[in-house]
Amino acid sequence: MDGLMMNIPLTTNSILEYGNRVFPYKKIITKNPDGSMHEYTYHDMYNRTLKLANALVNKLKIKPGDRVATFAWNNYQHLELYYGIPAMGGVCHPLNLRLSVDQITFIVNHAEDRVVFVDATLLPLFEKVAHNAKNVEQYVLLNAPRDVKTTLENYIFYEDLIADEKTSFTYPETDENSAMGLCYTSGTTGDPKGALYSHRSTYLHAQAINSPNALCTSSNDTLLLIVPQFHVMAWGAPFSGMLAGANMVLPGPHLNPKALVELLENTGVTIANGVPTIWMGVYDELKNNPRELPAFKKLAVGGAAMPKSLIIAYMKELGIEVLHAWGMTETSPLGTASRLQVHHFNLPVEEQYEIIARQGVEIAGIEIRITQEDGAIAPRDGKTVGEIEVRGNWVIKEYYKIKSDNFTKDGWFKTGDVGHINEEGYMTITDRSKDLIKSGGEWISSLEIENAIMAHPLVKEAAVIAIPDKKWSERPLAAIVTRGDKKPDIEELKEAMRYAFAKYQIPDVFVFIDEVPKTSVGKFDKKQLRKMYADGKLI
Ligand code: ADP
Repeated sequence: MDGLMMNIPLTTNSILEYGNRVFPYKKIITKNPDGSMHEYTYHDMYNRTLKLANALVNKLKIKPGDRVATFAWNNYQHLELYYGIPAMGGVCHPLNLRLSVDQITFIVNHAEDRVVFVDATLLPLFEKVAHNAKNVEQYVLLNAPRDVKTTLENYIFYEDLIADEKTSFTYPETDENSAMGLCYTSGTTGDPKGALYSHRSTYLHAQAINSPNALCTSSNDTLLLIVPQFHVMAWGAPFSGMLAGANMVLPGPHLNPKALVELLENTGVTIANGVPTIWMGVYDELKNNPRELPAFKKLAVGGAAMPKSLIIAYMKELGIEVLHAWGMTETSPLGTASRLQVHHFNLPVEEQYEIIARQGVEIAGIEIRITQEDGAIAPRDGKTVGEIEVRGNWVIKEYYKIKSDNFTKDGWFKTGDVGHINEEGYMTITDRSKDLIKSGGEWISSLEIENAIMAHPLVKEAAVIAIPDKKWSERPLAAIVTRGDKKPDIEELKEAMRYAFAKYQIPDVFVFIDEVPKTSVGKFDKKQLRKMYADGKLI
């Protein structure tokens, strides 16, 4: 029809161009493996990224659609790969370096990666994968000394690869619906499966992250990207950050709480993202070694439920806003986010924290619904529970080269999460369907019980799983990690829980452990816990 708007493809190339055109002087700061700092500007990054795009075409002969993998920490070279690979039409495929050798090998082969960019610090691990990596023709080493020792064959150095390339590049014509990135799920509940992101989905997702109902990022911010670049593309922060024109700080391999707090202190970080385990560690570090963090004003947390007690610790004690968000590899990941609205400000403070502890409301571009066991769509009444289904502009419509029955006939993705939505649109996740406990025919939410136990001041972490029971078929078991040597009195704890829970919901068995086993991205590994306690031997 005449008189319509221009139709310019939404691509990550246009994000790169925008960053360089409007904010060339903004900073990207990396902590190198040896602890030294690397700092350069968006413009420097732009020039090197275009050199990389040229090298991928000229030297490595990558063709549009080919998968190019990375095996790296969060650093400036990895950022260049995030933009340089899609710039020439390739698909950037970050590999999760915390998976098992077998899982990584499976993923490299499944994705048919042609080239892998490997950080030298990770060579001992990747060498174990390499001899079974069927399609890899070339390795490129990041941060490697000249005299590097490796069993990898056919490797070159990253700096050599890009050294003599031009800083100008002619982008191929890019369909916004073509693939730019590939991430596999971290396999918390099953085998890893690939989500193939398009230029368009990545662009729209980045804008959604920056929107005021989500992170509200602007060019006045400095972002610390704690979420690994191999975990759902660092939750999209490399793209949202540049679209906002924010400074970016990349911690490299230095992810321990002390190192993170140092970065928060010394680089003027205003916003940082991470899973709850990270924020538990950072909080403990701040308690043990109090520090002034005047710039740090907001943290984004997701990937697992943020315990209410930790939300209170950050907001009330430290004055740092908590943006609690929910999402999945399959949803890019941002799906919902929980913030207070103006009509909540007069509520008692406890109730305000309750609201933030929910998973939140849909971000524009995403729709959620709850489907009950009989297939009926649940009302938004804050209590009718069912499986959460989602659809939207940055939600996968199928897995990469794997058939799955996780999709409904009418085009929704079945998340495997269970929960409800209230009248105000706030979603609450009560469990993952595989973690739900069914005791005597009644469902018990492990998340709600964990939250209640973690509210105890002596408790650092609590994970609740089902153990087999002759009479009730399953009963909850709570595994507790204490903050120090002192243990909470279990009878008192159970008594206190009676206010909020029915008797059958309260675990009969409490065990004390040194650490809750964690998945590759730092979530409670309930598969592992179940294995430990399933036969009842350790109880
Ligand atoms: P994996 O599926 O391997 O764990 P993902 O990072 O894709 O990898 O995990 C997505 C899942 O993480 C969601 O389906 C949900 O169960 C959980 N999750 C994400 N954010 C939250 C949150 N804020 N609260 C509770 N659970 C969450």
